[in-house]
Amino acid sequence: MTPQTDHTPDQKPKQKIDRKTDIKELTPDRLTRWLVDRGLPPYRAKQILGWVYLRQVDDFVSMTNLGKADRVLLADHFSIDRLLIKDMEISADGTRKYLFELADGHRIETVLIPEKDHYTLCISSQVGCALGCRFCLTAQGGFQRNLTQGEILAQVRDILRVIDPEDARRLTNLVFMGMGEPLANYENLIRALGIITQGDYGLKFSPRRVTVSTSGLIPEIGRLGNDSDVNLAVSLNAADNPTRDRLMPINRKYPIEALLAACRRYPLKPRRRITFEYILIEGVNDDPECAHRLAKRLQSIRCKINLIAFNPHAGGDFRRPNEAAIQQFRDVLVYHNYTTVIRYSKGLDISAACGQLNAKLRGEAAKWEATEADRLRS
Ligand code: SF4
Repeated sequence: MTPQTDHTPDQKPKQKIDRKTDIKELTPDRLTRWLVDRGLPPYRAKQILGWVYLRQVDDFVSMTNLGKADRVLLADHFSIDRLLIKDMEISADGTRKYLFELADGHRIETVLIPEKDHYTLCISSQVGCALGCRFCLTAQGGFQRNLTQGEILAQVRDILRVIDPEDARRLTNLVFMGMGEPLANYENLIRALGIITQGDYGLKFSPRRVTVSTSGLIPEIGRLGNDSDVNLAVSLNAADNPTRDRLMPINRKYPIEALLAACRRYPLKPRRRITFEYILIEGVNDDPECAHRLAKRLQSIRCKINLIAFNPHAGGDFRRPNEAAIQQFRDVLVYHNYTTVIRYSKGLDISAACGQLNAKLRGEAAKWEATEADRLRS
Protein backbone atom coordinates (compact mmCIF):
# COMPACT_ATOMS: atom_id res chain seq x y z
CA MET A 1 0.00 0.00 0.00
CA THR A 2 1.50 3.35 -0.99
CA PRO A 3 0.09 6.42 0.81
CA GLN A 4 0.43 9.56 -1.29
CA THR A 5 -0.41 13.16 -0.46
CA ASP A 6 -2.64 14.89 -2.97
CA HIS A 7 -3.30 18.58 -2.21
CA THR A 8 -2.80 22.18 -3.21
CA PRO A 9 -1.11 24.61 -0.74
CA ASP A 10 -4.41 26.09 0.54
CA GLN A 11 -6.08 22.73 1.04
CA LYS A 12 -5.67 20.34 3.92
CA PRO A 13 -3.62 17.36 2.75
CA LYS A 14 -5.83 14.46 1.67
CA GLN A 15 -4.45 10.95 1.73
CA LYS A 16 -4.85 9.00 -1.48
CA ILE A 17 -4.27 5.28 -1.15
CA ASP A 18 -2.81 3.83 -4.29
CA ARG A 19 -2.87 0.08 -3.95
CA LYS A 20 -0.92 -1.84 -6.52
CA THR A 21 -1.66 -5.46 -7.33
CA ASP A 22 0.42 -7.93 -5.35
CA ILE A 23 2.20 -9.92 -8.04
CA LYS A 24 1.46 -13.13 -6.11
CA GLU A 25 -2.19 -12.69 -7.11
CA LEU A 26 -1.32 -13.46 -10.73
CA THR A 27 -1.13 -16.94 -12.20
CA PRO A 28 1.89 -17.59 -14.45
CA ASP A 29 -0.45 -17.48 -17.47
CA ARG A 30 -1.92 -14.16 -16.49
CA LEU A 31 1.47 -12.61 -15.87
CA THR A 32 2.69 -13.94 -19.23
CA ARG A 33 -0.29 -12.36 -21.00
CA TRP A 34 0.29 -9.07 -19.19
CA LEU A 35 3.92 -9.02 -20.30
CA VAL A 36 3.18 -10.04 -23.89
CA ASP A 37 0.52 -7.29 -24.13
CA ARG A 38 3.32 -4.82 -23.36
CA GLY A 39 5.72 -6.27 -25.90
CA LEU A 40 7.86 -8.30 -23.49
CA PRO A 41 8.86 -11.90 -24.22
CA PRO A 42 6.77 -14.59 -22.46
CA TYR A 43 9.81 -16.24 -20.81
CA ARG A 44 10.16 -13.16 -18.60
CA ALA A 45 7.21 -14.42 -16.50
CA LYS A 46 9.19 -17.41 -15.25
CA GLN A 47 12.19 -15.22 -14.50
CA ILE A 48 10.07 -12.80 -12.49
CA LEU A 49 8.24 -15.53 -10.55
CA GLY A 50 11.58 -17.23 -9.82
CA TRP A 51 12.72 -14.02 -8.15
CA VAL A 52 9.50 -13.83 -6.14
CA TYR A 53 9.26 -17.45 -4.94
CA LEU A 54 12.72 -18.99 -5.18
CA ARG A 55 14.91 -16.04 -4.33
CA GLN A 56 12.28 -14.33 -2.20
CA VAL A 57 13.10 -10.75 -3.21
CA ASP A 58 10.82 -7.94 -2.03
CA ASP A 59 11.30 -5.46 -4.85
CA PHE A 60 11.70 -5.39 -8.60
CA VAL A 61 15.02 -3.51 -8.49
CA SER A 62 16.71 -6.71 -7.31
CA MET A 63 15.66 -8.62 -10.47
CA THR A 64 19.01 -8.11 -12.13
CA ASN A 65 18.42 -10.24 -15.21
CA LEU A 66 15.67 -7.82 -16.28
CA GLY A 67 16.36 -4.57 -18.09
CA LYS A 68 15.96 -1.33 -16.11
CA ALA A 69 12.89 -0.24 -18.10
CA ASP A 70 11.17 -3.58 -17.44
CA ARG A 71 11.87 -3.33 -13.72
CA VAL A 72 10.39 0.17 -13.62
CA LEU A 73 7.32 -1.01 -15.56
CA LEU A 74 6.74 -3.84 -13.09
CA ALA A 75 7.26 -1.58 -10.06
CA ASP A 76 4.74 0.89 -11.50
CA HIS A 77 2.03 -1.76 -11.62
CA PHE A 78 2.80 -4.37 -8.98
CA SER A 79 3.97 -4.84 -5.41
CA ILE A 80 5.52 -7.90 -3.73
CA ASP A 81 3.68 -7.98 -0.43
CA ARG A 82 4.43 -9.71 2.84
CA LEU A 83 1.94 -10.36 5.59
CA LEU A 84 2.35 -8.59 8.88
CA ILE A 85 3.31 -10.94 11.71
CA LYS A 86 1.33 -9.69 14.71
CA ASP A 87 2.32 -12.43 17.08
CA MET A 88 4.19 -15.72 17.34
CA GLU A 89 3.91 -18.25 20.11
CA ILE A 90 6.08 -21.31 20.70
CA SER A 91 4.59 -24.35 22.35
CA ALA A 92 6.46 -26.59 24.76
CA ASP A 93 6.72 -29.19 21.97
CA GLY A 94 8.33 -26.68 19.57
CA THR A 95 5.17 -25.92 17.54
CA ARG A 96 5.14 -22.31 16.41
CA LYS A 97 1.87 -20.48 15.81
CA TYR A 98 2.07 -17.33 13.68
CA LEU A 99 -0.69 -14.77 13.76
CA PHE A 100 -0.72 -12.86 10.47
CA GLU A 101 -2.60 -9.64 9.79
CA LEU A 102 -3.95 -9.22 6.26
CA ALA A 103 -4.10 -5.90 4.43
CA ASP A 104 -7.75 -5.39 5.45
CA GLY A 105 -7.01 -6.04 9.13
CA HIS A 106 -8.39 -9.59 9.28
CA ARG A 107 -6.18 -12.09 11.05
CA ILE A 108 -5.28 -15.66 10.24
CA GLU A 109 -3.07 -18.26 11.80
CA THR A 110 -0.42 -20.51 10.32
CA VAL A 111 1.23 -23.22 12.37
CA LEU A 112 4.71 -24.68 11.95
CA ILE A 113 4.84 -28.18 13.41
CA PRO A 114 8.10 -30.02 14.10
CA GLU A 115 7.97 -33.70 13.17
CA LYS A 116 10.68 -36.33 13.65
CA ASP A 117 12.76 -35.44 10.59
CA HIS A 118 10.95 -32.50 8.98
CA TYR A 119 8.55 -29.63 9.53
CA THR A 120 4.92 -29.48 8.47
CA LEU A 121 3.20 -26.16 7.86
CA CYS A 122 -0.54 -25.97 8.55
CA ILE A 123 -2.10 -23.31 6.31
CA SER A 124 -5.36 -21.38 6.52
CA SER A 125 -7.58 -21.01 3.46
CA GLN A 126 -10.34 -18.69 4.72
CA VAL A 127 -10.89 -16.05 7.37
CA GLY A 128 -13.30 -17.99 9.59
CA CYS A 129 -15.48 -20.75 8.20
CA ALA A 130 -19.14 -21.11 7.27
CA LEU A 131 -19.49 -24.83 7.86
CA GLY A 132 -20.19 -24.77 11.57
CA CYS A 133 -18.63 -28.02 12.75
CA ARG A 134 -19.64 -28.41 16.37
CA PHE A 135 -16.16 -29.29 17.66
CA CYS A 136 -14.39 -26.40 15.92
CA LEU A 137 -13.32 -23.07 17.38
CA THR A 138 -12.90 -21.45 13.97
CA ALA A 139 -16.58 -22.13 13.31
CA GLN A 140 -17.58 -20.09 16.34
CA GLY A 141 -16.36 -16.87 14.70
CA GLY A 142 -18.42 -17.45 11.53
CA PHE A 143 -17.21 -16.83 7.99
CA GLN A 144 -15.55 -13.55 7.01
CA ARG A 145 -14.04 -14.12 3.57
CA ASN A 146 -11.93 -16.36 1.36
CA LEU A 147 -8.18 -15.87 1.33
CA THR A 148 -6.81 -14.77 -2.02
CA GLN A 149 -4.30 -16.81 -3.97
CA GLY A 150 -1.57 -14.40 -2.85
CA GLU A 151 -2.55 -14.63 0.83
CA ILE A 152 -2.43 -18.42 0.73
CA LEU A 153 0.99 -18.32 -0.95
CA ALA A 154 2.27 -15.63 1.41
CA GLN A 155 1.81 -17.94 4.41
CA VAL A 156 4.33 -20.37 2.91
CA ARG A 157 6.67 -17.81 1.40
CA ASP A 158 6.80 -15.62 4.50
CA ILE A 159 7.39 -18.52 6.90
CA LEU A 160 10.23 -19.82 4.70
CA ARG A 161 11.77 -16.39 4.98
CA VAL A 162 11.43 -15.80 8.73
CA ILE A 163 12.56 -19.18 10.04
CA ASP A 164 16.14 -20.37 10.33
CA PRO A 165 17.50 -21.50 6.87
CA GLU A 166 18.10 -25.03 8.21
CA ASP A 167 14.47 -25.22 9.40
CA ALA A 168 13.36 -23.84 6.01
CA ARG A 169 15.24 -26.66 4.30
CA ARG A 170 13.42 -29.16 6.51
CA LEU A 171 10.00 -27.63 5.82
CA THR A 172 8.85 -30.23 3.32
CA ASN A 173 5.19 -30.86 4.14
CA LEU A 174 2.13 -28.64 3.84
CA VAL A 175 -1.36 -29.35 5.10
CA PHE A 176 -4.45 -27.25 4.43
CA MET A 177 -5.94 -27.87 7.85
CA GLY A 178 -5.87 -24.38 9.33
CA MET A 179 -8.77 -21.95 9.40
CA GLY A 180 -11.46 -22.52 6.80
CA GLU A 181 -12.64 -25.19 4.37
CA PRO A 182 -10.10 -25.16 1.52
CA LEU A 183 -12.47 -26.67 -1.05
CA ALA A 184 -14.96 -23.84 -0.40
CA ASN A 185 -12.26 -21.52 -1.78
CA TYR A 186 -11.55 -23.75 -4.73
CA GLU A 187 -10.23 -21.45 -7.46
CA ASN A 188 -7.76 -19.67 -5.19
CA LEU A 189 -6.69 -22.98 -3.66
CA ILE A 190 -5.95 -24.55 -7.05
CA ARG A 191 -4.02 -21.52 -8.28
CA ALA A 192 -1.96 -21.45 -5.08
CA LEU A 193 -1.31 -25.20 -5.32
CA GLY A 194 -0.02 -24.63 -8.85
CA ILE A 195 2.70 -22.29 -7.55
CA ILE A 196 3.35 -24.31 -4.37
CA THR A 197 4.16 -27.44 -6.39
CA GLN A 198 5.81 -25.71 -9.37
CA GLY A 199 9.31 -27.15 -9.60
CA ASP A 200 11.17 -24.58 -11.77
CA TYR A 201 10.18 -21.18 -10.47
CA GLY A 202 7.53 -21.90 -7.78
CA LEU A 203 7.84 -23.03 -4.18
CA LYS A 204 8.98 -26.52 -5.22
CA PHE A 205 6.97 -28.66 -2.80
CA SER A 206 6.40 -32.23 -3.90
CA PRO A 207 2.65 -32.87 -4.45
CA ARG A 208 3.16 -36.08 -2.47
CA ARG A 209 3.88 -33.90 0.56
CA VAL A 210 0.95 -31.53 0.21
CA THR A 211 -2.42 -32.49 1.72
CA VAL A 212 -5.77 -30.79 1.33
CA SER A 213 -8.20 -31.63 4.11
CA THR A 214 -11.93 -31.27 3.55
CA SER A 215 -15.06 -31.68 5.60
CA GLY A 216 -16.57 -33.35 2.53
CA LEU A 217 -17.56 -31.02 -0.33
CA ILE A 218 -18.29 -33.74 -2.85
CA PRO A 219 -18.26 -31.78 -6.16
CA GLU A 220 -14.91 -30.17 -5.31
CA ILE A 221 -13.39 -33.50 -4.22
CA GLY A 222 -14.02 -34.70 -7.77
CA ARG A 223 -12.50 -31.54 -9.24
CA LEU A 224 -9.45 -31.70 -6.97
CA GLY A 225 -8.65 -35.19 -8.22
CA ASN A 226 -8.65 -33.91 -11.81
CA ASP A 227 -6.93 -30.58 -11.22
CA SER A 228 -4.05 -31.56 -8.92
CA ASP A 229 -1.78 -34.34 -7.69
CA VAL A 230 -1.93 -33.51 -4.01
CA ASN A 231 -3.13 -35.79 -1.21
CA LEU A 232 -6.72 -35.81 -0.01
CA ALA A 233 -7.71 -35.95 3.65
CA VAL A 234 -11.32 -36.15 4.76
CA SER A 235 -12.47 -35.04 8.17
CA LEU A 236 -15.01 -37.84 8.83
CA ASN A 237 -15.50 -38.01 12.61
CA ALA A 238 -18.45 -40.38 12.53
CA ALA A 239 -19.50 -43.58 10.79
CA ASP A 240 -23.26 -42.99 10.91
CA ASN A 241 -25.31 -40.13 9.56
CA PRO A 242 -27.16 -39.08 12.74
CA THR A 243 -23.85 -38.62 14.61
CA ARG A 244 -22.16 -36.89 11.68
CA ASP A 245 -25.22 -34.66 11.14
CA ARG A 246 -24.84 -33.57 14.73
CA LEU A 247 -21.11 -32.91 14.52
CA MET A 248 -20.84 -31.54 10.99
CA PRO A 249 -23.90 -29.84 9.44
CA ILE A 250 -22.39 -30.31 5.95
CA ASN A 251 -23.33 -33.98 6.33
CA ARG A 252 -27.00 -33.12 5.82
CA LYS A 253 -26.10 -31.97 2.32
CA TYR A 254 -23.47 -34.59 1.57
CA PRO A 255 -24.18 -37.69 3.68
CA ILE A 256 -21.60 -40.34 4.45
CA GLU A 257 -22.60 -42.78 1.66
CA ALA A 258 -22.23 -40.08 -1.02
CA LEU A 259 -19.01 -38.76 0.51
CA LEU A 260 -17.39 -42.18 0.60
CA ALA A 261 -18.57 -42.89 -2.96
CA ALA A 262 -16.71 -39.70 -4.01
CA CYS A 263 -13.64 -40.98 -2.16
CA ARG A 264 -13.87 -44.29 -4.02
CA ARG A 265 -13.92 -42.37 -7.31
CA TYR A 266 -10.96 -40.18 -6.34
CA PRO A 267 -8.12 -40.86 -8.82
CA LEU A 268 -5.48 -42.10 -6.38
CA LYS A 269 -1.96 -42.40 -7.69
CA PRO A 270 -0.08 -45.68 -7.04
CA ARG A 271 1.10 -46.02 -3.43
CA ARG A 272 -1.08 -43.11 -2.28
CA ARG A 273 -3.91 -43.31 0.21
CA ILE A 274 -6.73 -41.08 1.37
CA THR A 275 -6.42 -40.02 5.00
CA PHE A 276 -9.55 -40.11 7.11
CA GLU A 277 -9.41 -37.92 10.20
CA TYR A 278 -11.51 -38.89 13.14
CA ILE A 279 -11.72 -36.67 16.20
CA LEU A 280 -12.63 -38.88 19.16
CA ILE A 281 -15.19 -37.30 21.49
CA GLU A 282 -16.19 -38.97 24.72
CA GLY A 283 -19.63 -40.55 24.63
CA VAL A 284 -20.32 -39.27 21.09
CA ASN A 285 -18.27 -41.31 18.63
CA ASP A 286 -15.66 -43.18 20.67
CA ASP A 287 -17.12 -46.57 21.59
CA PRO A 288 -15.81 -49.78 19.98
CA GLU A 289 -19.10 -50.21 18.10
CA CYS A 290 -18.36 -46.93 16.26
CA ALA A 291 -14.92 -48.28 15.34
CA HIS A 292 -16.41 -51.49 13.88
CA ARG A 293 -18.94 -49.42 11.92
CA LEU A 294 -16.17 -47.16 10.64
CA ALA A 295 -14.11 -50.16 9.53
CA LYS A 296 -17.08 -51.48 7.58
CA ARG A 297 -17.79 -48.10 5.97
CA LEU A 298 -14.24 -47.69 4.68
CA GLN A 299 -14.01 -51.11 3.08
CA SER A 300 -12.37 -51.05 -0.38
CA ILE A 301 -11.00 -47.50 0.03
CA ARG A 302 -7.20 -47.31 -0.01
CA CYS A 303 -6.81 -45.28 3.13
CA LYS A 304 -5.26 -44.68 6.50
CA ILE A 305 -6.98 -43.35 9.58
CA ASN A 306 -5.75 -40.60 11.89
CA LEU A 307 -7.35 -40.59 15.31
CA ILE A 308 -7.23 -37.29 17.17
CA ALA A 309 -8.45 -37.03 20.75
CA PHE A 310 -10.69 -33.99 21.11
CA ASN A 311 -8.99 -31.05 22.75
CA PRO A 312 -11.63 -29.42 24.99
CA HIS A 313 -12.09 -25.70 24.49
CA ALA A 314 -14.23 -22.84 25.57
CA GLY A 315 -17.89 -22.80 24.71
CA GLY A 316 -18.02 -26.51 23.95
CA ASP A 317 -19.59 -29.28 25.99
CA PHE A 318 -17.58 -32.12 24.42
CA ARG A 319 -14.94 -34.00 26.35
CA ARG A 320 -11.77 -35.87 25.49
CA PRO A 321 -11.97 -39.68 25.88
CA ASN A 322 -9.60 -41.35 28.28
CA GLU A 323 -6.47 -43.06 27.00
CA ALA A 324 -7.92 -46.58 27.33
CA ALA A 325 -10.90 -45.68 25.11
CA ILE A 326 -8.57 -44.14 22.50
CA GLN A 327 -6.38 -47.26 22.45
CA GLN A 328 -9.37 -49.55 22.26
CA PHE A 329 -10.78 -47.64 19.30
CA ARG A 330 -7.46 -47.92 17.52
CA ASP A 331 -7.17 -51.64 18.29
CA VAL A 332 -10.51 -52.33 16.61
CA LEU A 333 -9.39 -50.55 13.43
CA VAL A 334 -6.03 -52.34 13.47
CA TYR A 335 -7.92 -55.64 13.92
CA HIS A 336 -9.74 -54.76 10.68
CA ASN A 337 -6.35 -54.19 8.99
CA TYR A 338 -6.43 -50.41 8.76
CA THR A 339 -3.28 -48.38 9.17
CA THR A 340 -4.30 -46.28 12.15
CA VAL A 341 -2.28 -43.58 13.83
CA ILE A 342 -3.18 -41.77 17.03
CA ARG A 343 -2.18 -38.18 16.38
CA TYR A 344 -1.44 -36.35 19.56
CA SER A 345 -2.26 -32.75 18.66
CA LYS A 346 0.83 -30.61 18.72
CA GLY A 347 0.87 -27.22 20.31
CA LEU A 348 -2.04 -27.83 22.66
CA ASP A 349 -0.73 -25.25 25.10
CA ILE A 350 -1.05 -22.55 22.42
CA SER A 351 -4.39 -23.80 21.04
CA ALA A 352 -2.85 -24.81 17.73
CA ALA A 353 -4.76 -28.07 17.36
CA CYS A 354 -6.90 -28.69 14.28
CA GLY A 355 -10.04 -26.59 14.25
CA GLN A 356 -8.89 -24.72 17.33
CA LEU A 357 -6.93 -21.85 15.84
CA ASN A 358 -7.41 -18.21 16.67
CA ALA A 359 -8.80 -19.09 20.08
CA LYS A 360 -6.60 -16.54 21.75
CA LEU A 361 -8.39 -13.80 19.90
CA ARG A 362 -11.60 -14.55 21.69
CA GLY A 363 -11.97 -13.39 25.23
CA GLU A 364 -13.96 -16.39 26.33
CA ALA A 365 -11.22 -18.73 25.15
CA ALA A 366 -8.55 -16.81 27.02
CA LYS A 367 -10.75 -16.88 30.11
CA TRP A 368 -11.34 -20.58 29.70
CA GLU A 369 -7.63 -21.25 29.34
CA ALA A 370 -6.99 -19.49 32.65
CA THR A 371 -9.72 -21.52 34.36
CA GLU A 372 -8.44 -24.73 32.85
CA ALA A 373 -4.88 -23.94 33.97
CA ASP A 374 -6.21 -23.41 37.52
CA ARG A 375 -8.07 -26.70 37.32
CA LEU A 376 -4.95 -28.57 36.19
CA ARG A 377 -2.84 -26.97 38.93
CA SER A 378 -5.28 -27.90 41.73
FE1 SF4 B 1 -14.71 -25.18 8.99
FE2 SF4 B 1 -12.86 -27.10 9.28
FE3 SF4 B 1 -13.87 -25.84 11.41
FE4 SF4 B 1 -15.43 -27.52 10.05
S1 SF4 B 1 -13.54 -28.06 11.20
S2 SF4 B 1 -16.01 -25.47 10.77
S3 SF4 B 1 -14.72 -27.18 7.96
S4 SF4 B 1 -12.62 -24.91 9.81
